[in-house]
Parts: sequence; structure tokens; C-alpha cells
Amino acid sequence: MKILVGVKRVVDSNVKVRVKADGTGVETAGLKMSMNPFDEIAVEEAVRLKEKGVATEVVVVSCGVAACQETLRAALALGADRAILVETGEELQPLAVAKLLTAIADKEKPGLVILGKQAIDDDCNQTGQMLAALTRMPQATFASRINLAGNDAVSVTREVDGGLETVRLKLPAVVTTDLRLNEPRYVTLPNIMKAKKRPLETVKPADLGVDVAPRINTLKVAEPPKRAAGIKVADVAALVSKLKNEAKVI
Ligand code: AMP
Repeated sequence: MKILVGVKRVVDSNVKVRVKADGTGVETAGLKMSMNPFDEIAVEEAVRLKEKGVATEVVVVSCGVAACQETLRAALALGADRAILVETGEELQPLAVAKLLTAIADKEKPGLVILGKQAIDDDCNQTGQMLAALTRMPQATFASRINLAGNDAVSVTREVDGGLETVRLKLPAVVTTDLRLNEPRYVTLPNIMKAKKRPLETVKPADLGVDVAPRINTLKVAEPPKRAAGIKVADVAALVSKLKNEAKVI
């Protein structure tokens, strides 16, 4: 069974991002970019399923600029077999990505699609759900455990408010990963070398018949308000008075 995994190129999670001076978005020029952390977990899970012998091929897809090839190479170094870049310079919103992934899924016919639960740059948490709707596949979001026994169904344990919920889906299905699903392996140098030889195909949205024009207009992006400097109080009475009269929390 083939597993399709979506991997997004995002600003590295250790980099502090800055809002552009004109408030139109976030400055990304010159910043370190990496694979979205939830997508690394998705690739790791797909590779583990292949190592267990329940999956036969892991295909990774990234939609975006040509530099997404680096993200795809990183996924190949983690153990994916093949990569597809849907290349475009357009700003891609979740609906556009979901449509592109639908077109790829129509061609590739995966038994399972694994995406991250959210991209850490836009925090949308929408693409997996939209993909499930467009492809009419069942979905299990926020997976902390995936149990793929055969080619017909998958059991997924989800982290919900009250604890852990386990659902069973008919395949093909869409699953999105949560943090506790696994801990991705470190990429080794031999695997980076091997990844260079693995196939990476490039297609354009028009080749897939998908219109990726943005549907949502960003009106303004602003920095969060700066935190005021802390102060030292003389004693407990002064602290309680400030909490009561200034912070109004007691
Ligand atoms: P989002 O809905 O934007 O929070 O993204 C959720 C998940 O969808 C990500 O973790 C990825 O697995 C997938 N995804 C989003 N954007 C892209 C993209 N440009 N290329 C490939 N996969 C993506």
C-alpha cells in the first residue's frame, strides 16, 4: 500500500519571526527554513509503516517555490521513496493545497494520506480536513497512534479534550499527526547521500488543472503587544495590593 505525505517548507521553529514593516505579512527573506515539524512526524510514521512491512511505498509531496526541493530531499533522507514538487510562486492557502493534493491523490491512489495537523507558519489546521472533504475519504485528525493492520482499515488514536479516542477508518483515509505520535529519527549522512539519487518529479498546478488563486485577503499582520518590564515589590502586602488594584486578578 502506498502512503502519500504532505510536507510544507516553513520558517524553522527556532527562528524568531518578524512582521514586515508594511504589515502585509511576515518577513521570510534570509531566514532558515525547515520541514514543518508535524510533517516530519508524518514522514517518520509513514517510513515506520513501510519498515513494518504494512506499506510498500512512501511518496512525499510539497507545494510551493522551487526551494521546497530541499524539504523534499530532507523527507527522502528520512526514508521516503519518491518526491513530487508542485511548483508555484503563488501564495498557497489551505484550500489550494487541498485541491493540489486531491489531484495528486487521484493520480497516485494512495491507501493512506498523512499530513501534519497544522503548519506552524499559518496555524490553519485546515488542509487535512479539506482534503478529506474533497476526496470523500474518512479522516482522523490529531493522531497520537496509528495502527495499520491490513489494506482495508486503520485504527487511529486521537488526543481529545477528555482523553484518548480511538477510531477505525476504512481505507483510503486521511490522518493528521499530533506531536506525541512519534519522535522523528535523525538524518544520517549516508541517508542524505542516498536521498540525492531518489526520484523527484516537478509538476505545475496548471498540469493538475488546479486554480491556486488565493481566496482570502490578509488585511493586516501585527506584532503581539510588547510585554511590560517586571518590577520588584517590597513585601507580600504590596504584591497583594497590586494584584487586587492594578492587575485586578484577585
Ligand atoms: P495547515 O492546514 O496549513 O495548518 O497545514 C496542515 C498540513 O497540511 C501541513 O502539516 C502539511 O502536512 C499539509 N500542507 C500544508 N501546506 C502544504 C504545502 N504547501 N505543501 C505540502 N503540504 C502542505
